[in-house]
Amino acid sequence: TTVLSIETSCDETAVAIVNNRKVCSSVIASQIPIHTQYGGVVPEVASRQHVLTINALIDRAIREAALDWTQIDGIAATVAPGLVGALMIGMSAAKTLAILHDKPFVGVHHLEGHIYASYLSAPELQPPFLCLLVSGGHTSLIHVKDCGIYTELGATRDDAAGEAFDKVARLLNLGYPGGPIIDRLASQGNPHLYPLPEGNISLPGGGFHPYDSSFSGVKTAVLRLTQKLQAAGQELPVADIAASFQSSIARSLTKRAIACASDYGLDTIAIGGGVAANRGLRATLQAAASDRGIRVLFPPMEYCTDNAAMIGCAAVEHLSRGHVSPLDLGVQSRLSVMEVMSLYRADC
Ligand code: ATP
Ligand code: FE
Ligand code: MG
Repeated sequence: TTVLSIETSCDETAVAIVNNRKVCSSVIASQIPIHTQYGGVVPEVASRQHVLTINALIDRAIREAALDWTQIDGIAATVAPGLVGALMIGMSAAKTLAILHDKPFVGVHHLEGHIYASYLSAPELQPPFLCLLVSGGHTSLIHVKDCGIYTELGATRDDAAGEAFDKVARLLNLGYPGGPIIDRLASQGNPHLYPLPEGNISLPGGGFHPYDSSFSGVKTAVLRLTQKLQAAGQELPVADIAASFQSSIARSLTKRAIACASDYGLDTIAIGGGVAANRGLRATLQAAASDRGIRVLFPPMEYCTDNAAMIGCAAVEHLSRGHVSPLDLGVQSRLSVMEVMSLYRADC
């Protein structure tokens, strides 16, 4: 099964062609430098930018894959969740191509893309497995029973992991996006210098929630720490703070992912989302998992953050099972990953 896939849910315009679990071509135009001028993603600007770049990206993806339309089985686009105007551009482009070339249209849930990004590095992977989804907007433990059948077993109660990286980087004046910068700095710092909270959520009867987490407390602890060091007239040891922060997030996510996989008898954890690129998290989780005979899989580095290849991967899974979307499908700013089957025709 070969699909052309489009991703425009936020500030990346991306197009890919995927054959089963292999990337034939994948192109991305990031809008980060444009939005940085405004201090955050401006939805109207994002939509306009998608309109300006999408056609050229589609042409490039087809040229780089060296395929013609007869070799493509379906056209996919992210339809939820995300910025409505931004999603609309990618979905309209995909529907237009589907009608023009008489191909099925496959609407894809963005988080399903992050879940299946690991198929690109581990094509033999089959459900059931546990997905630790750690992105800019989400932090969840998802039981992947089969394609389209998901149960969210745990989540963050406040900030997403990627959001915590971005906010801490901002309060340390490091720039955006914060994750890659903190990752780099952390490798030069001492992760044990400043003990920070591990995002536990206390339960009324004592102890803490096994799978849910909270990251806003870690961020506040970093803020207090920097204020204290600055009040003492010290120059901020940014590398040590970055390393201590990254280690607390990595330990927190690892603890919960391992407990969840063990409790549910799942022998594989696949990570997805931008924070899956984090070297501290990769190392901590890998070490803890191998101690318990659990296999950990990561997407290739370039497919952790938003891209269209992962959307293509999810679309291949659906299309090969006959899941096709109606041409009057709309976009949705929010949609639980547990409701993805609502994107497909009832008769399929
Ligand atoms: P969502 O998928 O929830 O809608 P998103 O698409 O914005 O959110 P992604 O593109 O998956 O999120 O990931 C972006 C996030 O990943 C940012 O918060 C960024 O800081 C973080 N990130 C990227 N690389 C790293 C890294 N090496 N270490 C930690 N965080 C990282
Ligand atoms: Fe994403
Ligand atoms: Mg993004």
